[in-house]
Amino acid sequence: MTAIAERATNTTCHLCGGTEGKVVFVDQGVPLRRCASCRHVYSGWSQPDDYDGYWDQGVTAADVDFWDVAHRAVFEEFTDTYLPADGGRLVDIGCGLGYFVQTMRQRRPTWQVDGYELAPGAVRWAHDELGLVDDVHLGRVEEAGIEPGTVDVVTLWDVIEHLPTPQPLLEHLRTLLRPDGYVFVQTPSWPFQIARARTAATLARKGREDRNHLYAKDHVNQFSRRSLTRLALDCGFREPTFEVLKPVLAVDGSRSTAAVQAKLGLYRATRTLWKASGHRLMANPTLFAQLRPA
Ligand SMILES: [Zn+2]
Repeated sequence: MTAIAERATNTTCHLCGGTEGKVVFVDQGVPLRRCASCRHVYSGWSQPDDYDGYWDQGVTAADVDFWDVAHRAVFEEFTDTYLPADGGRLVDIGCGLGYFVQTMRQRRPTWQVDGYELAPGAVRWAHDELGLVDDVHLGRVEEAGIEPGTVDVVTLWDVIEHLPTPQPLLEHLRTLLRPDGYVFVQTPSWPFQIARARTAATLARKGREDRNHLYAKDHVNQFSRRSLTRLALDCGFREPTFEVLKPVLAVDGSRSTAAVQAKLGLYRATRTLWKASGHRLMANPTLFAQLRPA
């Protein structure tokens, strides 16, 4: 058995528990299946919820470029659009290297902000390089002793696609919210990502078709508006509201000017379509959703 086959053993849908799924794409040897019961797409890769190995090998210049520079536009647009300047309390889950917490420190200094992260290498970076010693915490938010009903906004940037069982975390986060609070979720949008992956695989040189298109070893869930709505309802939230925000300004890790300009053009087009269709047609690469308690 190859190393990939040993880890690509999951056949159970992470949303409904169904075990009948049709393979819709194979990414780096890992099958992605669409559940026959609920139509959610999930990866065959087995990864525990508490996986903490990211950044074990250290933080590279490319990591910083991606998580700081490429994310800056969307972090700032979110902060300026959604978070009132006069203060509040925000919790950032899976805060990684700490760059969103840093954005909050700089643009919303009146807010109380706490980031939680399981990867020790990332927390070291946030503490030593960004000086966020009091703001970024190593460990699970469930064990942080936050008083229920005290948080205005919880953010999950690029997190829920990594968790095989996001339900217990979302249910816990719901209890932390004030009555008018919400959880903000950013995650790749499956309809766009599968179209892009199929196009890239078709155009790839012979023997290169199986490169990393959909991050199947990290992104064990591939959400659509439909499946993210189901997850929200399952966890005691109302139907989410979706929005189109600025993209992460990188394409497959590349920040070439042409790639960034193409992505900004796509953003303007998808935002126009979203507004013109009365919030029905969404062609964005990324889902941005607000989840409010039911
Ligand atoms: Zn299912």
